Amino acid sequence: MIGRPEPEIRTKRELSRILRRMRELTPRTPGSSILQAELDTSRIEIMDGKPVSRAVITLRSTGCDWARRSGGCTMCGHLAGASVESEPSVERLNAHFDRAFDHVDWARIPVLCLYNGGSVLSSSEVPDNTFEHIVARIAAEPRIRLVALESRPEFVDEQRLNWLAGALGGRSLRVAIGLESARDDVRELAIHKGITLQAMERVARIVTQVASLRLYVLIKPPWLTEQEAIDDAVDAVRLARRLGATDIHFEPATIQRHTLVYYLWSIGRYRMPWLWSIREILRRLDEPVYVSPFAHVPPPIAIPHNCPACSSTLMDAIIRDYNNLRDPDVLRGYSCRCEDSWRDVLSERDTRPLSERIMSDLPLVEAAIEKAAGSQSV
Ligand code: SF4
Ligand SMILES: [Zn+2]
Repeated sequence: MIGRPEPEIRTKRELSRILRRMRELTPRTPGSSILQAELDTSRIEIMDGKPVSRAVITLRSTGCDWARRSGGCTMCGHLAGASVESEPSVERLNAHFDRAFDHVDWARIPVLCLYNGGSVLSSSEVPDNTFEHIVARIAAEPRIRLVALESRPEFVDEQRLNWLAGALGGRSLRVAIGLESARDDVRELAIHKGITLQAMERVARIVTQVASLRLYVLIKPPWLTEQEAIDDAVDAVRLARRLGATDIHFEPATIQRHTLVYYLWSIGRYRMPWLWSIREILRRLDEPVYVSPFAHVPPPIAIPHNCPACSSTLMDAIIRDYNNLRDPDVLRGYSCRCEDSWRDVLSERDTRPLSERIMSDLPLVEAAIEKAAGSQSV
């Protein structure tokens, strides 16, 4: 926030304070009660121009360092799926990984995505011994052709990445990072991401020397109007390409419990993106992207929608048909009466600067967090 106007600095400070308080109150699970990693083999990847299956293994470790240290991102509820200990157990994580890994039919699935609801490259989240164990297991499975892992930029170290690329032999390596928005103020304030554009530029240079880069873009950060969110998503894809991303994933905002966005939503100050907005974004892009199917850990309690009459049909068209073909033409021909309501929403304007919008909602959010904490302790 160096060099930022005073209202933005104050907003960031207040937001961080409330987020940290919210994380303190977030229930987490003792590690001994977490019996396995999450395994999802339903998602697809485009490889050599064709859709292929991918296995997503999500280790349930101690949770994202950024969320524990600074309150984390406003829409992210992964910490509620993490274990409560501050030090992860190597034996437990190794066993969880092995069980999920041994369950995958690698003859059918050539892609492994390794996530942990945080940064796989952070030694405090995934201990070095576990990381080395995982790399050795992958290296011994020749049918895996692509390995993708998620990390925040501060954990991407050039030497370690070079070592990893070498240890994986000829397999492709992909590093996935949350860019989220084209706008610095949205990333810093509305999302509380703690990642500047300079940090992204630095990490993109390091990653693209030995691996491919996947960037995540959030659709509809809080405090943006629907139209602002559409414009930002389109701009963020352009920025992601400029940074060297070859793979761009949209993350349409969902409602996970124990997030600031959840509390905003619960007091009527936030709505997830309309599916019409997602279609509009895909139409405006002149390049293919992937739309994440909301398979978060813990699962969201509400996801983007239109009206009840058209939501599931359009959702299927986006998540299944668009993702398979990466062609926005598959989304033509859908219409519903609720499009008129969506157009009305698009015409809504908010002339206030972002920091003012946030500051006017924070007291309500804080009250909602404390009220929920009070009812939990009764
Ligand atoms: S979105 Fe990523 S960086 Fe942000 S709190 Fe969640 S896991 Fe951490
Ligand atoms: Zn509808």
